Amino acid sequence: MQALVKILQDYNLQTELEDGCRRVLVSDCYSLLQKLNRQHRRGVAIEDDYLCQGCQRKIFAREISYASDIIVFNCRHIFHENCLLATTGEFVCVICSAQQKSEFRIS
Ligand SMILES: [Zn+2]
Ligand SMILES: [Zn+2]
Repeated sequence: MQALVKILQDYNLQTELEDGCRRVLVSDCYSLLQKLNRQHRRGVAIEDDYLCQGCQRKIFAREISYASDIIVFNCRHIFHENCLLATTGEFVCVICSAQQKSEFRIS
């Protein structure tokens, strides 16, 4: 009889522990999601001397014939639209995706 009581008590403890873990996990997910959301909402300042990461020329062209649309990523890499499309053909940060690829290769 005593052994049965002990088993039930252990079982109770186990389920309480699982419940606690689940609560911690949910609140962790929520706070991380909020953090991500905050970072995505942050503004990106672009100054006059910033360079295009594609052609390394100034992002704001003085001459109208060099002027182009500008693409700004959340990672703060900036490209002329033409330079970006010439390298990737899509709106993806070339620098960050290259870094990701090399990180995957190491691991
Ligand atoms: Zn450029
Ligand atoms: Zn980037």
